[in-house]
Amino acid sequence: MLLSVIVPCYNEEENVPYFYEELMKNEPFFTEKSLDVEVIYVDDGSKDATVSEVKKLHEKDNRVRLVSFSRNFGKESAIYAGFQKAKGDYVVMMDADLQDPPSLLPTMWSYIEEGYDSVATRRVNRKGEPPIRSFFARMFYKLMNKISKTDIVDGARDYRLMSRRVVDAILSMGEYNRFSKGIFGWVGYETKWVEFENVERAKGETKWSFWSLFMYSLEGIVAFSTAPLAIASFMGIFFCVLAGILILFVIIRSFFWDDPTTGWQSMICIISLISGVQLLCIGIIGQYLAKTYLEVKNRPIYLIKDEL
Ligand code: UDP
Ligand code: MG
Repeated sequence: MLLSVIVPCYNEEENVPYFYEELMKNEPFFTEKSLDVEVIYVDDGSKDATVSEVKKLHEKDNRVRLVSFSRNFGKESAIYAGFQKAKGDYVVMMDADLQDPPSLLPTMWSYIEEGYDSVATRRVNRKGEPPIRSFFARMFYKLMNKISKTDIVDGARDYRLMSRRVVDAILSMGEYNRFSKGIFGWVGYETKWVEFENVERAKGETKWSFWSLFMYSLEGIVAFSTAPLAIASFMGIFFCVLAGILILFVIIRSFFWDDPTTGWQSMICIISLISGVQLLCIGIIGQYLAKTYLEVKNRPIYLIKDEL
């Protein structure tokens, strides 16, 4: 049986050999279970020596493979490429920075042996992360689970061990706007959750700024929920009803009191409020339209420059 390990890498020159070392500490376990292993490093257009580091490893050990992109396409594309290239009966994906501890693999494997199709991991705390980041992350998961039918677990990592049929299910979702946390939840299958304590990045720096995470969360919402569109319609209905009541009020008032032009300030407030809401709703529709536009163009999710 073959196990494919997918490692998305963007500027991870220091972590590439380090990750290999840590992963291969599981060698006794692989032999015990007679598992063949292939390690696919997906280089996401790194600007440092990531590619040459992987090539060095490949020379030492031909179980190491490389897929190198023509530019930076983002982690989601790297994951998809890894899935497409993986030949394994089982596939696991891990970050290069060792925040997904390879020492957890034997435990995860034991659940596969129990018959689970997919073993996912979540970190139970966010130790070592800025508190404001954790706060927004928690808010995002709460909101997401309210407005989306897809289960998206707080603290879930992309570290997952999957059987071939789950991988094929994920590959069948060829969408351009990829939000893996949602995709994994959407495909379903028997999933076992394994918890672990947060580990800080081994070397190098995180590629996610607060702003890029914020944009990513918006993408997740647009990709896996249509609730904002429904909210836009509800706001429309609400303001129609409100306008109806106000019209009645004005008509009745003008019958009983003679009161022509007062209230223009409040009029301006109301006009501003309602035009603001209208622009907001158009913006929401615009977000979905933009995503649809990209989807319809049907561009490739990644382009390969080099492969080993
Ligand atoms: N990564 C990638 N492409 C990108 C950004 C990140 O392939 O555009 C990889 C990165 O090399 C790492 C993983 O995705 O292996 C997670 O990234 P990072 O550790 O920066 O994210 P964090 O753990 O801070 O959420
Ligand atoms: Mg990391």
